[in-house]
Amino acid sequence: MAFTLKVIDDQSTGLIVPNDQHYLGGVDLLQRTAFAHLFPCGYCEWTMRSLLYDLASLHDWSVDVAVRKAPPKKDDTVLSAPNGVCRNCGGALQGDGFSTVLHCESADPDSYEHHEPDANPVLCRQNPI
Ligand SMILES: [Zn+2]
Repeated sequence: MAFTLKVIDDQSTGLIVPNDQHYLGGVDLLQRTAFAHLFPCGYCEWTMRSLLYDLASLHDWSVDVAVRKAPPKKDDTVLSAPNGVCRNCGGALQGDGFSTVLHCESADPDSYEHHEPDANPVLCRQNPI
């Protein structure tokens, strides 16, 4: 019987893991068991993916890969903005990083209004460090 091994290429971890969500809900134990048959540790490193394909073809299995993208790195920049406070003047940072770029309340509008919303926070020029 033809069998398709369903896996997830999780780009945030760099690991290929079994896609064991059953389409009717719950866990698809067949997928999990089949994957564990190839990789008892329960995952395959992305760099070892050719081994996954080789082992699957030895069993006459096809492989269905779903990609789970890593969250964009720019989110980290917004989240790591220093407590919403301007490093130059201590003023509040305004904007949400999604519809408007984060900017110091004292910054000149010319310095940020044309920025992409997810650009780095724009600080004022007062007491620049
Ligand atoms: Zn400022």
